Amino acid sequence: MSLLIQENIALKPYTTLKTGGVARYVLTVTNLAELEEAARFIAEKKLSYLVIGGGSNILVPDEGFAGVVILNQLKGVSYLEETEDEIILEAGAGEVFDEVVSETVQKGYWGLENLSAIPGTVGATPVQNVGAYGVEMSNVIVGVDVYDMKELSVKYFSVEECEFAYRESFFKTDKGKKYFITTVYIRLKKNSTPKIAYADLQKRFLGEEPTLVKVREAIISIRSEKFPDWNVIGTAGSFFKNPVIDEEHADTLKKQFPELPMYEAGMGMFKIPLGYVLDKVCRLKGIRYGNVGLYEQQALVLVNYGDASTEEIKKFAQTIIDVVFRKTKIIITPEVQYIETK
Ligand code: NAP
Repeated sequence: MSLLIQENIALKPYTTLKTGGVARYVLTVTNLAELEEAARFIAEKKLSYLVIGGGSNILVPDEGFAGVVILNQLKGVSYLEETEDEIILEAGAGEVFDEVVSETVQKGYWGLENLSAIPGTVGATPVQNVGAYGVEMSNVIVGVDVYDMKELSVKYFSVEECEFAYRESFFKTDKGKKYFITTVYIRLKKNSTPKIAYADLQKRFLGEEPTLVKVREAIISIRSEKFPDWNVIGTAGSFFKNPVIDEEHADTLKKQFPELPMYEAGMGMFKIPLGYVLDKVCRLKGIRYGNVGLYEQQALVLVNYGDASTEEIKKFAQTIIDVVFRKTKIIITPEVQYIETK
């Protein structure tokens, strides 16, 4: 099989927000040889490129994308280096992340259960160090294989080299952008203690033993109540990042809004649950302008209720950013990546 090259393809169906225009080229990559072909194609045409996995974290311009979109279809799941307590999972970056999580839980391996029901592909999880309910990818990743799209060579990054931070990694930096993640190596445990410290989870296990399967089921249930089904409604999950503010700012807000929850984030900083701010401080939960709104069950989730354009979504998001700033002086930023046309 050689590289599949398509021209002038609508990107809407490839994004969970269901907006955006047409891509000049779409290349579907299923193995390393095709990825090399794709890199050569991009160099030859002198075009920029964009990698799409699940399309759950991008906002494509209405004018479309004038470069090359690479659809990541690098598949394969295997288990390596089995010891008495641990195994290493090797997962292709184009695998659907939640299908991999589901398989590990079925096999009785601990580590990914708190990350159940997250949309997107395996390859996207190290990029923004995806995390939920007290577990981040940085806690379980051993390393990643990447393909250098400029040098046309394969490289391994250890967990330290990935430079993980809260929803950040080396792969988001300018230097890291030329690396295409091809495989992710994850350490799983055969026995472990359930991590159920988050309030939503704790409530589910009052008087009940949290087994591995039950933790996954509880998270799927919590998320299905809070998040809309992205197969049905246009959404990218949490549209904005939970902000981290300094102590002085936190003290001021605590006086203004005594009920506002805050979580220590290290180095004297505090994490603020933006869902709470949007709902209880700004009263924006469920707000809707035309085709765009904030979801009734979780205000952090922006929803495309109909045929919203990307421009409408951007304007709506900017209004939310302005209201939050006026009320709290917190500058919030989108977690969703705004793609440029070129
Ligand atoms: P939530 O559980 O209400 O939490 C909101 C915020 O409060 C998050 O910043 C969370 O930190 C923090 N928090 C809550 N309980 C905490 C505790 N016991 N200790 C420390 N920090 C605590 O948020 P939600 O919107 O319903 O989302 C549920 C989970 O999914 C959260 O963990 C959220 O971060 C995660 N999520 C992640 C992504 C992503 O990786 N892109 C997207 C959507 C949601 P943490 O963020 O550190 O957990």
